[in-house]
Amino acid sequence: CGIVGYIGHREAYPIILKGLKRLEYRGYDSAGIALFDGIDLNMCKTKGKVADLQELLENKISTSGQLGIGHTRWATHGVPNDVNSHPHYSNSGNLIIIHNGIIENYDALKKELIKRGYTFQSDTDTEVLINLIEDVMINEKVKLGKAVQIALNQVVGAYAIAVFDKTRPKEVVVAKLGSPLAIGIGDGEFFVASDASPFIEFTDNAIYLEDEEMAILRLDKDIKIRKIADDSLVNPYIQKLQL
Ligand code: GLU
Repeated sequence: CGIVGYIGHREAYPIILKGLKRLEYRGYDSAGIALFDGIDLNMCKTKGKVADLQELLENKISTSGQLGIGHTRWATHGVPNDVNSHPHYSNSGNLIIIHNGIIENYDALKKELIKRGYTFQSDTDTEVLINLIEDVMINEKVKLGKAVQIALNQVVGAYAIAVFDKTRPKEVVVAKLGSPLAIGIGDGEFFVASDASPFIEFTDNAIYLEDEEMAILRLDKDIKIRKIADDSLVNPYIQKLQL
């Protein structure tokens, strides 16, 4: 029940791992991390504690990459096991997501996606959401940010999500309704997390997304925050964290 993400010029893995440990108090049954170096995606996820993930991961995958997302799961749809753990990816393998919350209408959306030929590895509502986003991208010929927005307008439920597209390695898209989501703004880098504790040592500039807002975190650009419902731009309100 925690999310953490990083995009910038540092190695993401130590930031994500430490961040997940700081979010352990939120309670969880599984944990997972995806790291992207611009070419290869390395992902590891498991039922159990962050310490179990760390042991497994450091023996199994490369930890390089300056984009990373991590998750601790409190299972709502699908038993706690390795496959149902986050991150989840879309059928093409290009879109990767972490999600806290519940997609209440996941069953109807899933049936529709199955009719269109999508397949599912897990029993989670989250894997439905990432394939819905992919379906919108393909059908509407839009980029990730727009696809996330259109997809979320079809969703009933609660979420804090972070998503990226392997074909757009400079960008992470985040959105929130119900579950908390904080964004840390550094110099040429962005952090996201369920609370500010994973990034407070790196930056004291934070934005707390409001419900029904989404943000595009793009390197070399200013943050863009929009209302999910009507696409209107929101002025970012940057808070100074007390160190
Ligand atoms: N509903 C999602 C799942 O069951 C996310 C749960 C969570 O908030 O950790 O996988």
